Amino acid sequence: MIDTNTFMLVLAIGNICFAMLMAGYTRSSPVNRAMELWQWAKLVQGCAHFIGWLHPDWLLPYVALVANSALIIGVELEAAAYCSFFNFRRWKAVLFPSLALALLIYAAARLGGASPLALAVVLSLIFGLLSGVMSLLLLWPRPGVTVLQRIIGVNNFVFFVAMVLRAWSGTVSDDLHAFVSGPAQSFTFITGYIILIVNGFGFLLLCKEKDDNKLAQLATIDSLTGLVNRRAFFEQIEGARMLAARQRHPIALLMMDLDYFKRINDRFGHAAGDEALRVFSAAALTALREPDIMARLGGEEFAVALPGTDLAGAMQAAERVRLAVAAAALPQCGVGYSMSVSVGVVAIDPQEHINAALARADHALYAAKSAGRNRVEVGQPMRHGAVRA
Ligand code: GH3
Ligand code: MG
Ligand code: MG
Repeated sequence: MIDTNTFMLVLAIGNICFAMLMAGYTRSSPVNRAMELWQWAKLVQGCAHFIGWLHPDWLLPYVALVANSALIIGVELEAAAYCSFFNFRRWKAVLFPSLALALLIYAAARLGGASPLALAVVLSLIFGLLSGVMSLLLLWPRPGVTVLQRIIGVNNFVFFVAMVLRAWSGTVSDDLHAFVSGPAQSFTFITGYIILIVNGFGFLLLCKEKDDNKLAQLATIDSLTGLVNRRAFFEQIEGARMLAARQRHPIALLMMDLDYFKRINDRFGHAAGDEALRVFSAAALTALREPDIMARLGGEEFAVALPGTDLAGAMQAAERVRLAVAAAALPQCGVGYSMSVSVGVVAIDPQEHINAALARADHALYAAKSAGRNRVEVGQPMRHGAVRA
């Protein structure tokens, strides 16, 4: 059987170590409310267990009252950290009343002279329900739920079930004493240890996963327009080209460059130029379909990959973009001011290297510029020498 006193020390050390790890992690990442709440949660839980270890006789009324109340606060803080992590804004309205209620119920039971068995049942229900809330937050169906979130969510759900079973067994038998060794107690300790480890490392990994995703987004998204950047475009268009070749579907490419864009900067300032780039991107996107991949290659140069679209379809799409851009308003440049775009269009050959297709589209764009701008030009068909090795 597991020795309760040692177990209290294990939980105390474990929680305090996790608080320290989080403190170290938050020092090198931007301030984050969820991480702060979680750090406090682990510290408070660690202290509660530490008090439990210092005073193994939990039946001493005030020591037990302080330790268990601290534990309730610590677990509520952990639930608050999950709420904050998942941007559940109204968490204070839910968790503060539930914290007050849990503390009140426990204090009333303790000070009202409830039996140790009844107290264990009350505490099991409180911790079980809080774990249930955390598993709900983690497993709630929404786009982008990761495997890591599922693992932690399932772990919390298992703990919720274990606590409810423990509470239930306390109502039907008398072998559930807070500090009497027995199978039920060992089971509780083991599930408690698993939740310490999985939730502890799990939350740290969740934070890292979120930070990594943010960094990956920064590395692939153009911050001004929200479009994919040059690097990400090359990766995505290569994937789209290979898929099109495999499925024997057509795929087309547009190269676009705003006409006389320098004039907007010179006349209305750089901020107006930036606005024009944003307006252009939004207008072009409205004229494109969902699978189309539009990217800002740099400056006022853009490219679009059109999977499943042949040359005729791509010319129509380019014309739609041209008209949408001409119709878009530019508030910072004054009423009636509009911009225009020149477009080069090619159908990508399944065997063609992307750079060769881009060069052909660029050539067509140059032809559109030379022919007076604000127009769509079709590129030359693929040259034999551009075939992939
Ligand atoms: P053309 O019709 O031949 O394409 O002429 P243009 O004026 O559009 O082309 P040019 O290449 O001469 O000018 C592009 C300008 O785009 C120059 C550069 O300062 C500006 N530019 C590049 N990136 C940004 C940006 O992020 N914001 C703003 N405001 N301007 C930018
Ligand atoms: Mg230009
Ligand atoms: Mg240019």
